Amino acid sequence: MPPTETLPAPPTAVPEPAAATAAAPPLAEPPTSSVDLGPTPSVFGYNDFSRQQKWDNLFLSVPDAKLAGEHLKTLTSEPHWASSPEDQRTAQYVAAKFRAAGLTTEIVPFRVYLNKPLKIEIAAFDAAGRRLMSGPTPEHVDPKEYGGDPFQDDPRVLPAFNGSSASGDVTAQVVYANYGTVQDFKLLEKMGISVKGKIVLVRYGANFRGVKVMIAQQLGAVGVLIYSDPADDGYVHGDMYPRGPWRPASAVQRGSVQFLTRYPGDPETPGVASTPDLPESDRITDPAKMNQPSIPANPLSYQDAEPILQGLGGAESPRDWQGGLPFTYHLGGTASITVHMHLEQEYKLRTIWDVIGIIPGWDTRAWVVAGNHRDAWAFGAVDPNSGTAAMLEAVHGFGELLKQGWKPRRTIVIGSWDAEEEGLIGSTEWAEMHAAELSHAVAYFNTDVGVSGPEFTAAAVPSLKQFVREVAREVPSPKGGSVYDQWLKAQQAGSRIRAAEPITEVRIGTLGSGSDFTPFLQHLGVPATDIGSDGPYGVYHSVFDNYNWFIKFADPTFVYEQQQARVFGLEVLHMADTDVLPYDYRLYGQDVVSYLKAAQERATAAKMSLDFSDATTAAQRFAAAGESVYKLQTSHQSGVALAGVNFALRDAETALLNNAGLPHRPWYKHTIYAPGEYTGYAAVVIPGVNEGIDEADAARTQAQLVALTKALNRAAKILEDAGK
Ligand SMILES: [Zn+2]
Repeated sequence: MPPTETLPAPPTAVPEPAAATAAAPPLAEPPTSSVDLGPTPSVFGYNDFSRQQKWDNLFLSVPDAKLAGEHLKTLTSEPHWASSPEDQRTAQYVAAKFRAAGLTTEIVPFRVYLNKPLKIEIAAFDAAGRRLMSGPTPEHVDPKEYGGDPFQDDPRVLPAFNGSSASGDVTAQVVYANYGTVQDFKLLEKMGISVKGKIVLVRYGANFRGVKVMIAQQLGAVGVLIYSDPADDGYVHGDMYPRGPWRPASAVQRGSVQFLTRYPGDPETPGVASTPDLPESDRITDPAKMNQPSIPANPLSYQDAEPILQGLGGAESPRDWQGGLPFTYHLGGTASITVHMHLEQEYKLRTIWDVIGIIPGWDTRAWVVAGNHRDAWAFGAVDPNSGTAAMLEAVHGFGELLKQGWKPRRTIVIGSWDAEEEGLIGSTEWAEMHAAELSHAVAYFNTDVGVSGPEFTAAAVPSLKQFVREVAREVPSPKGGSVYDQWLKAQQAGSRIRAAEPITEVRIGTLGSGSDFTPFLQHLGVPATDIGSDGPYGVYHSVFDNYNWFIKFADPTFVYEQQQARVFGLEVLHMADTDVLPYDYRLYGQDVVSYLKAAQERATAAKMSLDFSDATTAAQRFAAAGESVYKLQTSHQSGVALAGVNFALRDAETALLNNAGLPHRPWYKHTIYAPGEYTGYAAVVIPGVNEGIDEADAARTQAQLVALTKALNRAAKILEDAGK
């Protein structure tokens, strides 16, 4: 459930027995290939890349555009909301493909607390009590214009709703709060407008929708309506579907309003796997301790939001709060408009199904995990099944390698997650179930929106940024050259428009949240990446994110599906087979030093008196340790010495976890990265420190600096001892 294109960007270490990987035999010799391999590049992590390059070439020849298109068509032929019979059928399809490729495959069920809408009624009235709108209006486009849409009338599509919304029957005046960010609500307060007792109308964008509801609830609102403004993903950007790729008037963005930044996963089992046999007594039931709002929230199309917005009285809104509808937006809070929301959510424990496929390696302790979610709000062609189709073609490639006698050095685990849309539930429950094993997993590779267009994008932990660049250099682009070449070209073109400093190497984003990497990285400390290929995509989480939209606007010949399968698969192959783990801690250390510098400047600007000296010294020590371990990583060792370096490289990441977690949210344990408590999708770096500064809480910030210092010193020590 990553944000749309137009939204702003969004344990304890188990001691390793030194012999565990020392005995791993080298890669088998692949069969002779007729492909001309060209000169062998030097790739970080390999003593000699030539053998790997032959396996890579064999792998790259397998993912098939046409087959990816067939997977996509099958997976999206029915709406497959998590826990539905249609969702279970997609699990069986994926499991069959995993088995056919030779993976040891299991469908893993969990029982989780999910809401399903029984009744969604929203109506707006003017001051005289005249009804202006009665919704939600079913999503519909004219079947006679531009080919219409063949999927929109499927009766199995659930009415547009928000996962994790409370039930409720409220009638109140309405206040317009722009995107519903902390700053937006502060500005409203400054303008003398209270949301207490009101229904808040906000537009999508800028932050995670659950954060909008969390702030509104904290300020005493009785309900929230979240609509899609045409300025954000509609006609302001271009033609609306089915003529173009942008959001039509009736299309609604469904989505979870879970308090994801408190913890993701099953609301009743934070930190615990909700397996089918989990006793009821192990579930929490106190709503105050859970990650769900207590007020009702529902999404709206702009068609349904328009009469409300247009009728709002009160002051004119600030000019940057004006969206794309053809009248001046006002702030409301007066009697000119009243809205009635009546939501009945059926909450109960429902069964969901992850599909797990395993390729055992020589080393069964060091897992390489890769995954994508499978459930969708409706048909989910882009989100998420463009990712699933590509993942299945990557698995197809692994299957061909297995037939040729390949056995990876490390064990590969592929996950097809369920109920991601409700709040990263399938991945979180599985990760919580395997926390001990994952404490030495060497990477988690995510994809969610695999393909919505031709522009490759990636986000990663700093230690894996160089790794992603190297993989992208090896994969051909449908536009010519490599994925890396086209990616760099696109970033350079973008930067010329913005007149920024010249880009000589691709920039890779920071992981926030909103997809399945969160439990692996931010709860368990598994280094992670997230990749996809983007384009103009205005139908996110609507009924129109379907196969018809996909073949018209995203990837008609599935060549970007093929590209995605190749990049995703190569990430897995490289991480599974490198001699030395390809984490670049030099970059990591430098990044942390710069995060601290920026935080110190913010603290100074906020006139907070804090001592950054120990944390800065520890960050510099971590960066220096990264430099010296890099020398070891490139010194081509073998056997026991190499195994020792690999353990240290992996344990250094675990050392960055703080078992106490972050203030207000102990589930989030990583000291360097978390989704922002008040942003959600966007990452906050050194979150304990930066959010303490946001709150102007010097004592809390200083305590977080101490925790960070300890974590950095722990990680530095592990890296320093690596060669000893
Ligand atoms: Zn998704």
